[in-house]
Amino acid sequence: MDDIFQLNKGKLGFGLMRLPKDGSGKIDAKETASMVDKFIESGFTYFDTAYVYPGSEEIFKETIGTRHRRDSYTIASKLSGWALTDDFTPEKMFEEQLRRTGLDYFDFYLLHSIEKDHLPNYEKYDTWDFCQRLKKEGKIRHFGFSFHDTPELLDKLLTEHPETEFVQLQINYLDWTSPRVQSARIYEVARKHNKPIIIMEPVKGGLLSDLESTITEPFGDKTPASMALRFAAGLDGVLAVLSGMSTPEQVNENIRIFSNLEKLSSEEEKEIEEVRERIKNLQVIECTSCRYCTPGCPEKIVIPNVFRYLNEAAVRSDKEKAKKDYAAMIAEGKSGRASSCIRCGKCEKVCPQKLPIRTLLSTAEEKLCYTCFSKSN
Ligand code: SF4
Ligand code: SF4
Repeated sequence: MDDIFQLNKGKLGFGLMRLPKDGSGKIDAKETASMVDKFIESGFTYFDTAYVYPGSEEIFKETIGTRHRRDSYTIASKLSGWALTDDFTPEKMFEEQLRRTGLDYFDFYLLHSIEKDHLPNYEKYDTWDFCQRLKKEGKIRHFGFSFHDTPELLDKLLTEHPETEFVQLQINYLDWTSPRVQSARIYEVARKHNKPIIIMEPVKGGLLSDLESTITEPFGDKTPASMALRFAAGLDGVLAVLSGMSTPEQVNENIRIFSNLEKLSSEEEKEIEEVRERIKNLQVIECTSCRYCTPGCPEKIVIPNVFRYLNEAAVRSDKEKAKKDYAAMIAEGKSGRASSCIRCGKCEKVCPQKLPIRTLLSTAEEKLCYTCFSKSN
């Protein structure tokens, strides 16, 4: 296991799923190249992508694979089991990933987003054995899986699959005590099995880095992002903390935090508890903006954006802004209205956070409709 820890330099990992976009909506290759250059020049090495992140493996090739020495970075990618079919086997998906990235091996390779509903496909296509074959052939160096389910299921899987070398878990200070996500209990299971941990969603899709100052007042002049990232990075057994960076400013702030990483003091742990309680009282929607739900919605509702505006309306003093932004998104044809949901349930089947999306959308229009709000005020 020590080998894995030596492979990664610095605990910060660069998630390649929320990269900057240009005016046409494509990933901005020039901006991305400058962000990844800064990351590597600052001594960090870990990049994270997946088969299903649109354009992500290709932009890895363009901005990292063809521009940086192979020994100056490590790359993790994921086999997305729910996309496998009899015609599109694990072998075909993996070959496509090598082609897209231009690589001949991955340093870290994961079964992606293991949860109860995805497990049958992972088993049907013998993906656990497939990954062990890849390892023997030198096409992957380390094998693990990312996980979104209960501590009991994680315990079962790690018992049945001792070949698993590491796990990727959703951990942040808000989910730590969440009865639904159960981050603390899931973390303890991984520790019991002595598995190195990659942390995903340390700022919960941006929610914990973008809070109103009245909520984060216990943090004083420390930024909300720095407190959330230090909470995650300070846990024992953590190999990397992933941050889906979208701007050069985020890269710079993360480098600053992780270059002089300090464990939280007991005073700061109390500050985190206080902020957690304040957020819980506002009943924010625990969407991580993963966007797995958007391609399948027949009404083209951009669900994470609707939830973001609902959360902004909850955590900001300026409620008007979220309503105006929602109205603009609809007027510009960028999303269907929340009220156009036909309750087909496709989105809930793929949501790793198990959110009751249909129920949440049923009241969204009322909360965000600018015209309705203006009339009632
Ligand atoms: S339930 Fe509603 S939001 Fe979800 S996929 Fe169907 S129409 Fe879209
Ligand atoms: S609603 Fe669920 S699937 Fe959709 S973006 Fe949010 S967390 Fe992801």
